[in-house]
Amino acid sequence: MTQRAPRVVIWNEFRHERTNEAVAAHYPQGIHEALAAPLRAAGLEVATATLDEPEHGLTEARLAATDVLVWWGHKAHAEVSDAVAERVKTRVTEHGMGLVALHSSHFSKPFMALMGTGCFLKYRVAGERERLWVVDPGHPVAAGIEDHIDLDHEEMYGEPFDVPPPDDLVFISWFKGGEVFRSGSGWRRGMGRVFYFRPGHETYPTYHHPQIQRVILNAVRWAARPEGLTAPVRGRRESPLEDLE
Ligand code: ZN
Repeated sequence: MTQRAPRVVIWNEFRHERTNEAVAAHYPQGIHEALAAPLRAAGLEVATATLDEPEHGLTEARLAATDVLVWWGHKAHAEVSDAVAERVKTRVTEHGMGLVALHSSHFSKPFMALMGTGCFLKYRVAGERERLWVVDPGHPVAAGIEDHIDLDHEEMYGEPFDVPPPDDLVFISWFKGGEVFRSGSGWRRGMGRVFYFRPGHETYPTYHHPQIQRVILNAVRWAARPEGLTAPVRGRRESPLEDLE
């Protein structure tokens, strides 16, 4: 059986790239296009959506035709409408759409709703070295990654990360300043899957790094709604399958 390529929507706040020269220098077409290019090169069907589009580009029809949504937001989380955030959450829990939340999307409304916790962490923007250790080398999201990934300059995120214990823990980061962080984690939520991947501060070229691109591709494939997923039967059931007499 041939599997259809996952249908991906990459959602980006797309504000910093238009107002900050340092960010625009790394991502002249926007972070969403930098994320889209390697996924398209891998044969995935990729569209993009941004905050300032009507309904943030995430209409019911759009999400119904999406197998996995990738999310990047930073300073405008509050501008995402509660209705759209709830729509995303419901597509995950009730319909099996995957969500891949990147970097500062730990504070995005859909991710927070799916976690049910405050999602707090420590942070410091000092351009320090980050080393991501593969702690589950057999996990599909670690495929093609050997032992660890080094990023010369990144923002630090430190534990405690205020999320429920992940079902899958694939990467743990160490930072030059001494902190550590669960930087690649997966959760099951209802019918769907959520993956959080930490790197990607907007003033560093992280999303051009081939190994980071590989992890995001892996995460998209892992989280994507499986073809043929069927809705569960729920609630009152009048007719038993066997004769009760
Ligand atoms: Zn950041």
